[in-house]
Amino acid sequence: MGLLEKNRLLGADNYYETTVAREPASAPLQDNLHADALVIGGGLAGLSAAIELAQRGMQVVVLEAQRVCEGPSGRNGGQVIAGLACGQSVYEQQFGMDTARAVWDVSVQAVELVKQRIAQFDIDCDPVWSYLTAADSPRKQRALADDVAHMRKHYGVDMPWYTGHSLKQQINSPRFLAAAADPYSGHINPLRYGLGLARAARQLGVRIHEHSPVTGLTQPLSGSAQWQAQTAQGSVTAAWGVIAGNCALAWEGPRVARRLHSRIMPVGTYIIATEPVPEALCEQLLPSNAAVCDNNFILDYFRFARDRRMLFGGRVSYTTGMPRGLPELMRQRMVQTFPALRDAGIAHCWGGFVDISMNRAPDIGRLAPNLFYLQGFSGHGLALTGMAGQLVAEALHGTASRFDLLAQMPHRAFPGGAGLRMPLLVMGSLYHRLRDIL
Ligand SMILES: Cc1cc2nc3c(=O)[nH]c(=O)nc-3n(C[C@H](O)[C@H](O)[C@H](O)COP(=O)(O)OP(=O)(O)OC[C@H]3O[C@@H](n4cnc5c(N)ncnc54)[C@H](O)[C@@H]3O)c2cc1C
Repeated sequence: MGLLEKNRLLGADNYYETTVAREPASAPLQDNLHADALVIGGGLAGLSAAIELAQRGMQVVVLEAQRVCEGPSGRNGGQVIAGLACGQSVYEQQFGMDTARAVWDVSVQAVELVKQRIAQFDIDCDPVWSYLTAADSPRKQRALADDVAHMRKHYGVDMPWYTGHSLKQQINSPRFLAAAADPYSGHINPLRYGLGLARAARQLGVRIHEHSPVTGLTQPLSGSAQWQAQTAQGSVTAAWGVIAGNCALAWEGPRVARRLHSRIMPVGTYIIATEPVPEALCEQLLPSNAAVCDNNFILDYFRFARDRRMLFGGRVSYTTGMPRGLPELMRQRMVQTFPALRDAGIAHCWGGFVDISMNRAPDIGRLAPNLFYLQGFSGHGLALTGMAGQLVAEALHGTASRFDLLAQMPHRAFPGGAGLRMPLLVMGSLYHRLRDIL
């Protein structure tokens, strides 16, 4: 079974699908089209690029293998987060403080872009702008305090700090010793957001073909720089191409994308949704109504949805199937965090693949002067994908400074080749997990 199919099965019980009324699927591509730009992948990255290009007057075609945002974009934790999965240190060490600050600014602008789009396209996606990072051991508390001090000193970011009584007024859990608030971040219903972007893209004239997996990407005419994406029954030829297919494309897609394949790893992560719980209990457990993430290497992330379900995410898996006994394991973790939820029924359990890069920095760049790729968001893609799409459009129209700021990061293939890289990643992760536990 291919990764796309496995991905589809992992998402079969996605709670967010119960919160939307999808339009009927658009027709699979059956023509040979010409456009200014072709986009492979109708997740948040592809839709964002399509919107930005269409807003600049280009004719754009999006080819999506499944339904738009049926993959990670429509089934994630909903946490809209400033910053990058790798933290600031990777950029600080590689390029120095000025570059690291510029990258941080782009990540904050990415969150602002989500807010702008919600307003501009009138997207009803339950935004709440409240976010906490929480520490569950003295060592993690020290690490979080160091991060807060570092962000204040070097980035001018003030992150309110909570312990003891003030912590309980933010998050009322016996697990945590301290938490820091992030003044920018928050949470949304990602599928409602993604479908809102798809609607906006169509209104801007973007053609979206669902159930149209791209099977080949070539330059059909010698001497021409044009790209042609082939599907089972048609093709799109365009002067510009954007590859935004994430894990499934990198692992199974057309040959050109295989050059990217060794640089990302699909890692499974999972979420449970409880039955709705009483409003008073939500307020008691999470008075801040924040999205919360702990600062462990393999982290838990959770929040209440608008209909008062606890959405509790975490665990990772380096197999591409659903781990056995998962709902119960996740429930136990949730009850450790909030004992008062011990009787809450589990209504949904689903998962998806995060596109992890070796250093956890986003992997964006060009495979040719007119062929862009966006991948490796490493679990921080809800906001950053949108920005990446905007940066492609800027670069394509001659202002590449922000695109190049992120694209300059070198990315390495996972060591060990196709057979060994998974075990090596597991060993690396187990080491970090052990450190967190100890
Ligand atoms: C369970 C889970 C929880 C997460 N939680 C968070 C969170 O709380 N906050 C956060 O910031 N990030 C989170 N993430 C990560 C975030 O969801 C991703 O970074 C983001 O959605 C990536 O968007 P994308 O458009 O790059 O990829 P995708 O959403 O994977 O979209 C790529 C699309 O390309 C299509 N495609 C692939 N191959 C082809 C092909 N050959 N032809 C045509 N189409 C193709 C796929 O069908 C897919 O729809 C989470 C991810 C998961 C799985």
